[in-house]
Order: sequence, then structure tokens, then C-alpha cells
Amino acid sequence: ALPVIYAITPTYTRPVQKAELTRLAHAFRQVPRFHWIVVEDSTTRTELVARFLARCGVPYTHLHVFTPRRFKRAGMPRATEQRNVALAWLRQHRSKRDAGVVFFADDDNTYSLELFEEMRSTRGVSVWPVGFVGGRAYERPLVSGGKVVGWYTGWRPDRPFATDMAGFAVNLQVILANPRAQFKRRGSQPGMQESDFLKQITKVTDLEPKANNCTRVLVWHTRTEKPHLANEPKHRKDTVVIEV
Ligand code: UDP
Ligand code: MN
Repeated sequence: ALPVIYAITPTYTRPVQKAELTRLAHAFRQVPRFHWIVVEDSTTRTELVARFLARCGVPYTHLHVFTPRRFKRAGMPRATEQRNVALAWLRQHRSKRDAGVVFFADDDNTYSLELFEEMRSTRGVSVWPVGFVGGRAYERPLVSGGKVVGWYTGWRPDRPFATDMAGFAVNLQVILANPRAQFKRRGSQPGMQESDFLKQITKVTDLEPKANNCTRVLVWHTRTEKPHLANEPKHRKDTVVIEV
């Protein structure tokens, strides 16, 4: 059987949340052997997300953990706690017998179905280009003789792994074999989450280049514009309550 792809999606309540999750579900439900781990940044599992997931047509696990307020400031890494809760779930509920690949799928990115075909064969840690990051049209691992030898990036090329969260996947057995590997708050500078995580589990020379030796962009770090809500009524609301 094909290894299961576990996509870890941190998500938080805001006007566009259901639209974002809908867009993701439309891609993910077309991927065979797929398991969506949705981790809400909230004190409970919200009704909106619970209802959405129950109807979305994708096999899923619904978790939650609230980010302490002191970590919710501009320039601080986002969704650290949520990704770690998902890793903890995998370590608790999956074992040596389970073939799988783990991928971090933020809720506002855009995913090509081909990306999942590429990552499915990840034996250790695989990497590929990501569109619209690092202050460039794309960032990518530089490949020579089938090995990663450097990074094409416009931002902090000194990062040991100059990739975005959407630019790599990890075999489930690597996650299980490194039970202490996790995303860090302490000592982690903005934009260093990926490098800080990856250096706990692999070496640059062991990375597996995907997407035609890292020459194809199959995922884009898109960001959704905030909807204009200045004309929301304060008092004379609609006569029915409608979930958006
Ligand atoms: N996120 C979250 N809590 C927050 C802010 C963001 O769980 O307070 C999630 C968000 O839904 C997304 C991921 O963390 O899946 C990355 O956030 P965002 O897309 O805002 O970051 P950026 O695009 O700037 O890297
Ligand atoms: Mn984003």
C-alpha cells in the first residue's frame, strides 16, 4: 500500500478561515491515502471547524492548542505549538508498522496535486522549491549530482536549511525515531523555525531533491488579503445567523 501522507495544518479563527479550509479540502480530497491533521489555535475545538471537517470528505484528526498571548506578537514565529501537538499525536498514535510521510501545510498556501505525488516517496527528508518566499518569486534547493549543495534564496542564505515550511516532507519513521525533535520557541529567531527543526533530524547532504531536481514550483506561499468589513452592521443585523 502507498505510504499515508499526513498533512499538518495549523489554523486560527478569522473571517477567511472557512474559505481557506475549503480551498485546501478541495485539493486534499483528491489525494489518495491522505490524512489531514488540523490543529486549531484555540482553547477548544470550535464548532465551525468541527462541522467543516465532518463534511469535507478528507480523513482527518481535529486537535487544538492555544498559543500563549506572549507569543502572539509581530515578528514571532507562528503555529509552533500547533505543529508540535500534531507531532506528539503522530508519536502517540502511529508506530514502526505505519508507512507515512509528514508535511506541514499552512492553511493559506496553494498546493499542486503533483506535489503529493512527489513527496510520497520520501525516505528520510525531501525538499523542493516554494513560490513567493524569501523575497523572491521562488526559493529552491540547488542540486548537483542528485544532492543538495546549496540554496537559491533572497533572504538569509546563511540558514543551514534555507527553505520554507512548505518546502520539505519527512518520513513518518524519522519523526518516530527522533522523539524529541520539535519546533522551538526558545532561541529560535524569526524565520529560523524550519532550519532549527530540520537540523534535529537530518543533514543537508542527506536531503532528497524532488520536483525534477528542484526545478519545478508545485507549492506557493500565497497569502490571503483581509476582506473589507467596514460596512458590517453594528445594530440592525441580518434576521438569520449565517456561518461564513
Ligand atoms: N496561525 C495560527 N495562529 C496564529 C497565526 C497563524 O495557527 O495566530 C497559522 C495559520 O493559520 C497558518 C500558519 O499558522 O496555517 C502560518 O501563519 P501565516 O500563514 O499567517 O504565516 P505566514 O504566511 O506569514 O508565514
Ligand atoms: Mn501563510
